[in-house]
Amino acid sequence: MHAYATDTTSADLTLDVEALRSEFPALHQEVHGKPLIYLDNAATTQKPQCVIDTLVHYYTHDNSNVHRGVHALSERATTAYESVRDCIASYLNAEDRRGVVFTRGATEALNLVASSYVEPRLQEGDEILITTMEHHSNIVPWQILCERTGAQLIVAPISELGELDLPQTLELIGPKTRFVSVNHVSNSLGTINPVKEIVEAAHARGVRVMLDGAQAVPHGVVDLKALDCDFYVFSGHKVYAPTGIGALVGKMEALEELRPYQAGGDMIRRVTFEETTYNDLPYRLEAGTPHIAGTIGLGAALDFMLRVGPEAIAAHEATLLDHAHNLACDTKDLTIVGQASHKAAVFSFALDGIHPHDIGTILDTEGLAVRAGHHCTMPVMQQFGLPATTRASFGLYNTIAEVDALFVGIHKVRDIFG
Ligand code: PMP
Repeated sequence: MHAYATDTTSADLTLDVEALRSEFPALHQEVHGKPLIYLDNAATTQKPQCVIDTLVHYYTHDNSNVHRGVHALSERATTAYESVRDCIASYLNAEDRRGVVFTRGATEALNLVASSYVEPRLQEGDEILITTMEHHSNIVPWQILCERTGAQLIVAPISELGELDLPQTLELIGPKTRFVSVNHVSNSLGTINPVKEIVEAAHARGVRVMLDGAQAVPHGVVDLKALDCDFYVFSGHKVYAPTGIGALVGKMEALEELRPYQAGGDMIRRVTFEETTYNDLPYRLEAGTPHIAGTIGLGAALDFMLRVGPEAIAAHEATLLDHAHNLACDTKDLTIVGQASHKAAVFSFALDGIHPHDIGTILDTEGLAVRAGHHCTMPVMQQFGLPATTRASFGLYNTIAEVDALFVGIHKVRDIFG
């Protein structure tokens, strides 16, 4: 077993990045004849060998359906699958392992709460509060609910730096507010939001809060007891785990109030044609055969992140982001989109007169994988008057040399466009 922080006993949290990189087979390839520099981690992360091995081991030895079998393989699969609930609860310092509900990802978890908790409580004139910097998956479900019920979507504003206007946000939590759902960390701006203050203010009015942690869990320590939110969602594939798995993590008393979401196997206790009674949490909210391999892979990924150290990951990524910001200051006609004082490792930028898709395409020829687009946050683009941005997002395996290479690529783009 590796310990990646070179000195875990003191405040020095420097990562042994070369040792780390050797565990990610996908990083060691050439693209267009250049070494791959993968800077699209906010979209999805590469997978360490231990996660890949876990999937192979599961399908090679333990493949079986969970919960219903009495045979050895089913027991092994069930034990491994259920242990991931403990792993997530402990990783996020959640209240109770039974409050970990497996979903396909953050999107499904957001929709689950919208449909099973919020919708039955909404009446005409009620308000749901979100922010300008939400991902579409935390906007559109609420628009659909508002259309169905006559409720209103209230949107907290952000500044030119990409920071939430906290006083105004808190003022927007009023007598008509029925629910608050906000981004913990923005995927297009990198902003880390003051979510604890929002949770406190909402709770003071008896309003429950959901936090979208899709971009927070990959980048450091998330402590759900400290945040005190009612619901928290994240996606596995952004934390070095497979796609198709994520979780809703909630307080038990809040989850108890959710009506069933999908109906089918595992979510019931007893079915007759006259009446069906439902299973306990979390199974009540997990109908059907789950993504067993993905779940076990998520456990392996979180174990890996624990081994690396969430604090060390955050410190390393902060160094990469600082370096990118410093280089950006020396780059002509480059605007950083998202300059909040608290930021995670997302570097979105615009180059005067050059479309992000051209930037992304040219960078790709240099082996640099970045994302160009609206990042599923079109209202953020509207706020900044941009069609799109180019986004480099860093993960635990990125290096200072790779950030330097990004800027060599950016200068090349400038030269091509004259
Ligand atoms: N919220 C945020 C902030 C995100 O960045 C993403 C993914 N880009 C999502 C939600 C949705 O995640 P998924 O597509 O994995 O469900």
